[in-house]
Amino acid sequence: MDYEFRVVVEKVSVASQKVVQRDIVKSYNINQPKSILELGLRHEEQISLLAQVQNSLLAEQSVLIDVGDNACPQCGQKMSKLGFMPSDFHAVFSDHQLQMPQYCCQNPECNWQNTPTCISRFGTDIHPDLAQLQSEEGALPSYREAVSD
Ligand SMILES: [Zn+2]
Repeated sequence: MDYEFRVVVEKVSVASQKVVQRDIVKSYNINQPKSILELGLRHEEQISLLAQVQNSLLAEQSVLIDVGDNACPQCGQKMSKLGFMPSDFHAVFSDHQLQMPQYCCQNPECNWQNTPTCISRFGTDIHPDLAQLQSEEGALPSYREAVSD
């Protein structure tokens, strides 16, 4: 009998433990490994799998990002949701686009729009874990070693 191996993400209600959304992230054939290369996932596939799991979580999180503007900073009128705009986000192993909520002033004479980005909301679009890794990696070689490359 043939089987496949599925990686699934589920969105579950904490209170009822009911699964409200279930998505197959990846599906792999289960084959007899003929060489060590066929054991598990190759490097690129591991990164790809992680990126897709991250995308599923980020899709849930990005709609919850509070940009903090209920009233227009120009005229004080209420703001209404205009939709979503993509904004770059760089995680440790993968790059992503967050769908950031966009707002528009309800006063037609003002029409002020708030198009937040990851940078405007969090001050950076690079996850601190990635920034730390990059600065540690940059600090490892001496100046002389770095210049000679
Ligand atoms: Zn306004």
